[in-house]
Amino acid sequence: MNPNLTPVIAIHGGAGTITRAAMSPAREAEYTAALSGVLQAGQRVLADGGSALDAVTEAVRLLENCPLFNAGRGAVLTRAGTYELDAAIMDGATRAAGAVACVKCLRNPVLAARAVMEQSEHVLFASDGAEAFARARGLELVEPAYYFTEARREQWERARGTAGTALDHDAASRAAEPIDPDSKFGTVGAVACDAQGRLAAATSTGGVTNKQVGRVGDTPIIGAGCYADDVAAVSATGTGEMFIRAVAAYDVAAQMRYAGLPLGEAARRVVMEKLPAIDGRGGLIAVDRAGNVALPFNTEGMYRGFARVGEAVNVWIYG
Ligand code: ASP
Repeated sequence: MNPNLTPVIAIHGGAGTITRAAMSPAREAEYTAALSGVLQAGQRVLADGGSALDAVTEAVRLLENCPLFNAGRGAVLTRAGTYELDAAIMDGATRAAGAVACVKCLRNPVLAARAVMEQSEHVLFASDGAEAFARARGLELVEPAYYFTEARREQWERARGTAGTALDHDAASRAAEPIDPDSKFGTVGAVACDAQGRLAAATSTGGVTNKQVGRVGDTPIIGAGCYADDVAAVSATGTGEMFIRAVAAYDVAAQMRYAGLPLGEAARRVVMEKLPAIDGRGGLIAVDRAGNVALPFNTEGMYRGFARVGEAVNVWIYG
């Protein structure tokens, strides 16, 4: 145990085309307040001697409950106008992991992911089976209307309009392109290092706007959108398909372990070199067992911040 270690939590609320010009001061204040409140809650867990695992669970639960972010309440809509949520959690100390994909009626997918980790012999449950598992463990269920926000519906209407045109004029290649970059990313995540130097990560999302029914992104894929071991904890946001192909979250820890890179450089290479090489857009948050934090992104902005116990919270939106 390192007596000089100050516990720390970092969070993100998604990356993408987030520019100051496109954001009203009131909206910016809302995001800043929401991120700060979540960081303070995570800080409290760690200050009270809570584990990194408990801190990231609580932070992501609160982000899911906040309609500003694309996870839980405020999730984006699928092409069919439905909701399909993904979440994952990983305990770096034990390398235990749990995840759920394509769930439609869980208030807090991250709590279901944690239940999968702690109360099953499996890592990933999908769709009906995931919901049945969560229901059997008494997790809170909601109607689809719970996830609804007018802002997401408007995004969806815009995306649908563009996608319709793209499909009409072209076939698969154009249909597969980003439809509305403004609305693409909004996943939430948290990583933490507790007083014992234990690491944990959690990620939760509604996916990408107007996604096909049944599409699963990187978020619930351990090693892609979420990963933690005894070297680093990582939570990602961005074009999920590329994060899966890059095994992005794991690659940060792997470069540290095998190439001896410091956290910041390992994270930078993934986000600024490896992902762009396959057109991957987005960012990640990462923490190592010494409490170092990295928050790189290759988009215009990323809702992000970190807080050490006993210190002020730090929150940023733009590049
Ligand atoms: N990575 C998420 C996904 O592909 C989306 C996001 O980060 O907002 O489902």
